[in-house]
Amino acid sequence: MRLEKYSFGIGDRFGRQGMAQLKAIRQARAAGINLVPVWNKSNREHQIIHSSPADTRREADNAVAALNWKFPYYVDADHINLNTVDAFLDHSDFFTLDVADYIGSKATQELTDAFLFRAARYEGVLKIPGIDDPFHITRETLTAIAGNFLGAVHEAAAIYQGIRQHKGDGSFIAEVSMDEVDNPQTPVELFFILLMLSMQGVPVQTIAPKFSGRFNKGVDYQGNVEQFRKEFEQDLLVIAYAIQSFDLPGNLKLSVHSGSDKFTIYPIMGELIRKYDNGIHIKTAGTTWLEEVIGLALAGDKALDMAKTIYSTAYKRQEELCAPYATVIDIDPAGLPSPSEVSGWSGEKFAHTLRHIPGHPDYHPGFRQLIHVGYKIAAELGEAYLEMIGNHARIVEEQVTTNIFDRHIKRLFPDIKQS
Ligand SMILES: [Zn+2]
Repeated sequence: MRLEKYSFGIGDRFGRQGMAQLKAIRQARAAGINLVPVWNKSNREHQIIHSSPADTRREADNAVAALNWKFPYYVDADHINLNTVDAFLDHSDFFTLDVADYIGSKATQELTDAFLFRAARYEGVLKIPGIDDPFHITRETLTAIAGNFLGAVHEAAAIYQGIRQHKGDGSFIAEVSMDEVDNPQTPVELFFILLMLSMQGVPVQTIAPKFSGRFNKGVDYQGNVEQFRKEFEQDLLVIAYAIQSFDLPGNLKLSVHSGSDKFTIYPIMGELIRKYDNGIHIKTAGTTWLEEVIGLALAGDKALDMAKTIYSTAYKRQEELCAPYATVIDIDPAGLPSPSEVSGWSGEKFAHTLRHIPGHPDYHPGFRQLIHVGYKIAAELGEAYLEMIGNHARIVEEQVTTNIFDRHIKRLFPDIKQS
């Protein structure tokens, strides 16, 4: 199983927007971009929503049948490890092996020796084609990289082998993720991580490093954009060189997590993948649910009331809701509109405040992030919530499709034909 060049991860908290999301991918294809969808959901998310991997598979299959989608599509067991992989085995064909927690864990002497022996040829001046300045690699550099990443790669290999034994060779796609950590991995580290993966027999097709800058949930990229550009470009060149040098799949590409709303860097990533003719996988992380709330607000009446209730409840429970996301959100509580103020808003005003249109006078990143982490409130509303989005399916789905196609895909492929 070989992942296509351009793939887009569509996250969907409540599993009701499969068709609306697939419509956005279909629009891209109609406009000449050969994009394939990957339904991604993590174990953590399933636990909060009380859904299961079988639900995600069903959502994907149903959307594909309903729209008569004839192209490949995948279901991603997102951020799994040895403890959580089992429940996904029969329902997924894409596995994101999350080994962030194993960075810095100890590897055996045998693995360390084998790596240092193989990597020794890169000691001295390491020249990566396309990168002007050479890297200077010492034995200490290699020992430090082994100390940081060899244990994590060994863990990835263990998860990979477990999945392979269950599903069979070549029947699934493997991604390796190290993004949920504090320190970004440098392009040089990425190069040697890829060597380790090839040595340990993990045919990784996508890799999600931690990039520099902040990838906060549901809002734009924050960081030094020029630095990001340089790092992303070097990562692309490292991957191209690693494919040449090591035993790795020829379609290996970068995977960008928390890709929702990172509008500033989309044109940069788009430009660079075209410059080097690379592919990309982008995971959008659950902002589809915000489009549901926007749809409810626009629908008015009881639906608008429910949107306001979700906000006022989230406002009261800020601390609890924000705690698990402390490192990936940035809300100034004093800057949030009070629930009593919001109760007087029209549906339009609510929608404009929540919708991410950079520069729109009503757009409020704090309001947006609070509702983003507030999906637990909707999960608690249970059937009442699902019924409400079902009753207003047309307007909700319109928001979902437009968000993915117009605000995301078009920024990555600015030359896209208007469909
Ligand atoms: Zn991630």
